[in-house]
Amino acid sequence: MIEILRPTELPRAKKAGALVADILQTLKTRSTVGTNLRDIDRWAESMIAEAGAQSCYVDYAPSFGRGPFGHYICTSVNDAVLHGLPHDYALADGDLLSLDLAVSKEGVVADSAISFIVGDAQPPESVAMISATERALRAGIAAARPGARIGDVSHAIGSVLSEAGYPVNTQFGGHGVGSTMHQDPHVPNAGRPGRGYRLRPGLLLALEPWVMADTAELVTDADGWTLRSATGCRTAHSEHTIAITDGGAEILTVP
Ligand code: MG
Ligand code: MG
Repeated sequence: MIEILRPTELPRAKKAGALVADILQTLKTRSTVGTNLRDIDRWAESMIAEAGAQSCYVDYAPSFGRGPFGHYICTSVNDAVLHGLPHDYALADGDLLSLDLAVSKEGVVADSAISFIVGDAQPPESVAMISATERALRAGIAAARPGARIGDVSHAIGSVLSEAGYPVNTQFGGHGVGSTMHQDPHVPNAGRPGRGYRLRPGLLLALEPWVMADTAELVTDADGWTLRSATGCRTAHSEHTIAITDGGAEILTVP
């Protein structure tokens, strides 16, 4: 199903987006050397509750996970890239942490992910990989104009990732957003221009380029949720929820 928001619903989508962005920025600031992933999960839980919003994750039980997820945020460290289950782990200097958060506020969902390095160490390969996913995200957003097709967005994202030298996995990617977290259309992180669903004003999309340094193959952790690189290499993930408007794409997950 593809939902198209009425113009009067856009302010609610913006509120949800700003909330997700605010929580992620607060959690980034608090994620220092020694911070436990379980603390990040608890902080997310309390901020979502204080805002009168609902977690999209806690009861989430899709076919690919060992559901329900039972937590409020995905915390993926180093070789973990998607669906990282918060567990008893204290962050170390130089860890690459990805935080992925989706909440529903007043009936509209927003979904965003950020990746960053914890502490003072700045491993150059990790910095470059995070930067590539951020550039790919910006390219995807620029391509998401009304009248463009999903393939144009996928191609824009995939071109940046490939040119930066990363293999691209198309198993998990972006998606439509609306009254629920995961909707059609699927937005793979690589694709052919001119193909697929035509974007129209009122469509909300979560675009989410992610990469692993030297492989496109994922393995599932023993926890049944966390997806890691098959080779143990580091990974990165960047995601925004955008609204297609008459003038182009508007990023909703900004503070
Ligand atoms: Mg997400
Ligand atoms: Mg998403």
